[in-house]
This record gives sequence, structure tokens and C-alpha cells, in this order.
Amino acid sequence: MIDASHLETLPPLTGGDGEPGERISARFSSANSDVMIRSSDDVVFKLIRRDLAAYSEIFPGEDVDTHNEVVLLTEDAETLELLFQYTCRQPLPILDDVPFEKVAKLAEAAEKYRVFSAMAICQIRMKAAVQQHPLAVLGYAARHGYASMCDEAAPLTIDTPSGTFLQAFGPAIFMKWVLYRDEWIRLHHMTLKKPRAYQLHKGGAEDCELWAPFFQEVTVALSDEGSLPLLGLDKVIESLMASKSVSSCTQCHSRATNWRRTLETARGRIPLFSTIRLPE
Ligand SMILES: [Zn+2]
Repeated sequence: MIDASHLETLPPLTGGDGEPGERISARFSSANSDVMIRSSDDVVFKLIRRDLAAYSEIFPGEDVDTHNEVVLLTEDAETLELLFQYTCRQPLPILDDVPFEKVAKLAEAAEKYRVFSAMAICQIRMKAAVQQHPLAVLGYAARHGYASMCDEAAPLTIDTPSGTFLQAFGPAIFMKWVLYRDEWIRLHHMTLKKPRAYQLHKGGAEDCELWAPFFQEVTVALSDEGSLPLLGLDKVIESLMASKSVSSCTQCHSRATNWRRTLETARGRIPLFSTIRLPE
């Protein structure tokens, strides 16, 4: 069943060679073309319906008469130029040299028009970009139901301002993200509370002179430039345990180790983004 709801049509082109000022894609200008598609920036692609229908679930095949009309799409020419290369019998572009912003646009178009080969390579490229572009990757993954990619990207977005996130992704994903981020904020608050000392120093004191500077440095390091250091809190604590010489005191070392374990356990209990459910 063809879903042509994404497609709009324009009046037939006069003479079939385009209107004044209109450009024709050099790559897609086949003389055998039986369908013309126009990009949002007015580039016309002359394509073959049989090919489009073979590689995409959305584009109409030969069984739908387009009455020589030009199909107008909302994507720009650069995106369509890439997308249509996945609807031909030719080696597929692997996108290694394509900048992320263009890959992201192609990824959305591939999903929208269900061009499976492009969807597959875009999934790989988007996943590879998660460290550099976590927010964009999370949005893409959440919109299209790629759960493991959501879970990989989401922790890297916890410092995003709420307004930025809402504007970029709309209320549905935003609400899930707020619930998810709350869990990280709770963990952050935990790191600011002085941990209990199970082993006391000589004379019954909880602290010796090593504890206060150590604790302060850890809390500062775990809040430094936002909440992202929480992702590596075990490494932060371990490195400061060594540099602040807290390891030279049995009681403080034991307290720091227990604290690190408690925080790690709390971090491990933060649910995956993909498992967050909104109330009915
Ligand atoms: Zn001590």
C-alpha cells in the first residue's frame, strides 16, 4: 500500500524542461524519466518511478499515474541528491566525507520516505556521531524508535538547557527527557552530601585533616562544568583519592571507597532513557 501523504504536487512543467530559473539535477536527468521531483530549493530531479518504488516504501510506483506533474518535496536539493543515489542500481554512497549536518538531514529523509538502504547506512553514521552530536542523535533515535541509540546518547545530553531541548524536539520527547534528567539531578545531589564514616579515627573523630580537602575536591570535580562528570564519577573519585593522599589514612580510604561504591550503585540504578514511560 503506497502512502503518498508526504507528497504534494505542482502543475505540469511546460515542455517538460522546467520553468525559468529552475535547475535540473545533473546526476538525475535521465531521458527515460517518468517522474519529476522538485526540491524545496527548486532543483528538479528526473527519475524513474520503477526504481523509486523498488527502493522506497513511500514513493509511488508505475501503478500510480502522476499525470506528468512535478512532485514537490520539503527537502533541499543536497539531501535529495544523496537520497536518490540510494534508489538506483549503483554502488551506494558510504557518507564518510559527508558532514554530520548533511547526514542528519539525509537520515530524516530516509526515514520519512522509507528508503531502506539509506536508513541502514544513516543509522551507522548517526551512531558513530553520538559523542560529537549527542543531542541530534538522541532526537533522531527517539523519533524513529532506535532504543539502544537513545540510551547511548541520552546520558550525554543531561546538561542541555531545558528550553533548548524543548525547542529542538517538542513536548513528547521533552517530557521523557525531563523525567530521565531528574534521575541524574538526584544523583548529583547525592554527591554533595557528606558520606557516613563507618570507621572512626583515634579519639572517635569521623574526619582527619585529609578528609575535608578530598571531599571538597571531589564535589567540585563532579559538578565542574555541569553534570557530565557524573558519567565518570568512579574515575574522578579514584584519581582524587590518590592525589589527595587520602589513601594514606585507613579510615578515610575506607570511607572514600564506600562512598564511591554507593554513588556507583545509585548511578547504576538510573533507568535507561528508552525505558522511561510517561504516565497515562
Ligand atoms: Zn583519615
